[in-house]
Amino acid sequence: MIRDFERLTGRAFDVLVIGGGIYGLAIAYDAAQRGLATALVERSDFGSGASFNHLRTIHGGLRYLQTLDIRRARESVNERRTLARVAPHLVRPMRFVLPLSGSLRAGKTAMRMGFALDRLIAFDRNRGLPDSLRLPAGCVLSRRASLNRYPMLRHGQSTGAAVWYDYVTIEADRLTFSFALAADEHGAVLANHVEAIALLSEAGRIRGARVRDAFTGRDGDAIAGLTVNATGAACDRLLAPLGLATGTPLLKAMNLVTNREAGEEAFGGRARSGRHLFLIPWHGRMVLGTWESTWPVQADAAAEVSDADVEAFIAEGNQAFPSLELGEADVTLVHRGVVPAASVAPGRVTLEGRARIHDHTRQGAEGLVSVTGVKYTTARAVAEATVDAAVRKLGRTRVPCRTALTLLPGSRSLDQARISEGSPDGSLSSDALSHLAAAYGSRCQQVVSLAQEDAAWRRPVSDGSAVIGAELVWAARHEMALTLADAVIRRTSLGAVGDPGDAAVEGAAALVGRELNWSDVRRRSEVAEVHRFYTRRAIG
Ligand SMILES: Cc1cc2nc3c(=O)[nH]c(=O)nc-3n(C[C@H](O)[C@H](O)[C@H](O)COP(=O)(O)OP(=O)(O)OC[C@H]3O[C@@H](n4cnc5c(N)ncnc54)[C@H](O)[C@@H]3O)c2cc1C
Repeated sequence: MIRDFERLTGRAFDVLVIGGGIYGLAIAYDAAQRGLATALVERSDFGSGASFNHLRTIHGGLRYLQTLDIRRARESVNERRTLARVAPHLVRPMRFVLPLSGSLRAGKTAMRMGFALDRLIAFDRNRGLPDSLRLPAGCVLSRRASLNRYPMLRHGQSTGAAVWYDYVTIEADRLTFSFALAADEHGAVLANHVEAIALLSEAGRIRGARVRDAFTGRDGDAIAGLTVNATGAACDRLLAPLGLATGTPLLKAMNLVTNREAGEEAFGGRARSGRHLFLIPWHGRMVLGTWESTWPVQADAAAEVSDADVEAFIAEGNQAFPSLELGEADVTLVHRGVVPAASVAPGRVTLEGRARIHDHTRQGAEGLVSVTGVKYTTARAVAEATVDAAVRKLGRTRVPCRTALTLLPGSRSLDQARISEGSPDGSLSSDALSHLAAAYGSRCQQVVSLAQEDAAWRRPVSDGSAVIGAELVWAARHEMALTLADAVIRRTSLGAVGDPGDAAVEGAAALVGRELNWSDVRRRSEVAEVHRFYTRRAIG
């Protein structure tokens, strides 16, 4: 996957996607797979916006049953299963345990009814899945059984516990990046660190965007029959100069990656605010989520998660999970993002529940569609609907969507027996091979081959991480990692749970810098930028 700015501006595309989060990437993949000439620009790195910051949960939509929203629950069940089918190496079943109260809405009877309905609605949740990914049905445990099994619940006044299963994705950024790889494999022209600085408008028709290369400062025009604005929180900012808007209110949201060791299951708890919080095991750590602001944030103002927001969330987390005893020093990374909201009262918002595809024809701008997505889990389905609309608008013959049936790159099955034996020449341990298989799936063979070129590339980059040097070299050579942060924070899991430390970052900078011919000055500034990422609280 090679970035080439010239390819963006040298020809006209059918579809130009602006924004390389999970929504933009899924749209570009689908459009390219259906034979549309497709380009995508991302102003920062692929998957560095809200898509980097989600709670790693691939939801089956159980919560929608509280409001009997069957359509959304079905969509979530379908998309949860689809992700497991197309990227089996990147999701794993997770047991969720939620203590129950004696109340009518959150008690045992309500949950039993919810699970009965879920069994009907999610009857096909495991269709076509291997045994390792099959999800058991949810159930309600008595107080005694739940306390015996989950001593952590002893701190509360629960009447029992609800137990259900969803998926979590451990290599979350590799999952997002798989959509970029798939789009690339189907001929889409993708470029990160390229910003759409203005939409190109001519006689009421949008014909693409002026784009700017962040490294050279060069501008060019990316021309397309249809432009898809998938810029997440920046959606209305891109539209504003043309007097267009989706009018989507926004709120900020965060998770806290903690230094608390994770067990086997995810726990839910209720804070005094009434918010349900979850502790999700991820890379051996507990991640606490999700906090959302109850007030709107402005699309055109740089949003930030303040120290006060983090403190308030820690306090809520400690209410919901008294044994957590979390302090600010225990937080190793603040995941933060801005997401669509719905107004509930003047100055008060809540999470928006529905993704929307906005056709701007009605506002006098033909050839432009904006997509505002609300869940990582359902991005593929929204992409399918967006590309259906694109095919209609472009007047093309209808081609069926195949993204729900096609394996994402790296998803072919692997010989597990060979992995557990280590590499035949003994140069990579079975632990190293297991880590590579979990991150790259069947594509791990390519990283293993690269590792054979240099003994230093076969070693872990730091004591605390399984990531080996070859992964960073691979990211720089073949996965469009153009900055150290791209390689350390998103292509590999070296910096997934927090700042990996000076030695690891310097070691990574030496490997990536050699591939990308960085000067000493550039290398030092890349190192500083990575460390800054972990202390900064700005969003976007
Ligand atoms: C704290 C938190 C927890 C969450 N938990 C979950 C969860 O557990 N499960 C779940 O399913 N969902 C969850 N979500 C929701 C999910 O993360 C989002 O719905 C999804 O990631 C949105 O993807 P997106 O592509 O629309 O936006 P983004 O990922 O933000 O992508 C938009 C991209 O557009 C780029 N961009 C902006 N302007 C321009 C421009 N002018 N030119 C080029 N590029 C541009 C940005 O850099 C960005 O990368 C969570 C969200 C948050 C914030």
